[in-house]
Amino acid sequence: MKPTLQKLQQQLEQTSKELNLFSAGDRLKIGDKHLPDSVAVLDFWTPADGSRVMDIGTGGGLPGLALALSHPKTSFTLVDAREKKVRAVRDMAEELGLENVRTVAGRFEELARETKYREQFDVVTARAVASLPLLLEYAAGFLKVGGSLYAWKGPDYETELKQAKIAQAELGLVYKESFAYELPGAEARVILRFEKTKKLHPAYPRRTGVPSSNPLVSK
Ligand code: SAM
Repeated sequence: MKPTLQKLQQQLEQTSKELNLFSAGDRLKIGDKHLPDSVAVLDFWTPADGSRVMDIGTGGGLPGLALALSHPKTSFTLVDAREKKVRAVRDMAEELGLENVRTVAGRFEELARETKYREQFDVVTARAVASLPLLLEYAAGFLKVGGSLYAWKGPDYETELKQAKIAQAELGLVYKESFAYELPGAEARVILRFEKTKKLHPAYPRRTGVPSSNPLVSK
């Protein structure tokens, strides 16, 4: 039987209770907020059959698991530094029978230096992972030229976008458009799309910890 978002919700709630994947407050909002927010991107983007998507900073598995469930012919690689979370996400994917999901534990700065991950993905997704200048450096390491980053943000993203001007130019990851929507309860949300326009300079991403301590921020 095809797995459903409802089954995923049950799994996330159960696993989260056992392993603290989400805070107690967030656990109560999985069905009303986190799952609808995760799949909202599908109103603006249809994952192509046979394409490769990387969900960076997947944490407890969002948005990666929800998107993989909706698009079984697209390959999803879910990545996070926290091994315990990655193991839990792998177990949930197995339980749901999601053959299109791979999980990887590691730091983005290191994985993006491995040829099997560097500039290999058509799309990168990132929800609640980092401020834009930092996020662009992480995502640029994994995206193919021509690929897109979808970044989930709140409605006050303009300041972050201004701060990400240098990062966009330096990394060749250029802002293209924003998609605004509302969650149940009228919470305003925005997903930003960036396009990778040139090959990444070998100096990027910088070594572990450097992007976060010294982000490419425009003043
Ligand atoms: N995307 C999930 C969601 O929407 O519920 C979880 C977001 S959680 C707030 C951010 C995650 O990014 C954390 O699990 C953290 O371990 C991961 N992360 C942040 N920086 C990272 C890095 N440099 N390398 C690997 N993982 C990182």
